[in-house]
Amino acid sequence: MALTLTEVASEAADCTRCGLAEGRTHVVFGMGNPHADLMLVGEGPGAEEDKQGLPFVGRSGKLLDRLMAEEMGLSRDQCYIANVVKCRPPDNRDPKPDEIAACRPWLEQQVELISPRVIVTLGNFSSKLLLDTKTGITKLRGQSYPMGNMISTTAVVIPTYHPAAILRGGGLQEAQMRSDLVRARMAMT
Ligand code: SF4
Repeated sequence: MALTLTEVASEAADCTRCGLAEGRTHVVFGMGNPHADLMLVGEGPGAEEDKQGLPFVGRSGKLLDRLMAEEMGLSRDQCYIANVVKCRPPDNRDPKPDEIAACRPWLEQQVELISPRVIVTLGNFSSKLLLDTKTGITKLRGQSYPMGNMISTTAVVIPTYHPAAILRGGGLQEAQMRSDLVRARMAMT
């Protein structure tokens, strides 16, 4: 019998498939509505996320919540939020290819069980993974795509910037992210 999302999360809580298990406080599996039409996929947990065991709870998460509310009229409990790697990379470094590959089955199970209509990928790592491409986010964003090489799903993928990039960057990127979120909202209807 197929596992539920809660059962998969419980299995993932003890995962030691890659070296990131060594430094983590919590496995940050994901949070939100398990039947959501919209899924958002980021990169990996930061310090605050590792501490709380929840995704996007720091400054980036607050910005994401605000942009989603303003451009989509959605709160985070109406969608599902997860990351490409579920454990915090030390010193917030980028996740390595072997870590992404090791963690990928958890994300695949999430996508399969939630079966969202739209997946917004936040930043390079999730966009490249789900779209099976080496193209960077700046070129990818601004369009909708069918899912790449992951599990079969009819979900539309809409890549946009990671909110951390907006915090570092400026007005142009924020305006582009806002328009990507509007595109995602329209794709849900
Ligand atoms: S990052 Fe993913 S694969 Fe690696 S230990 Fe954590 S849950 Fe397992």
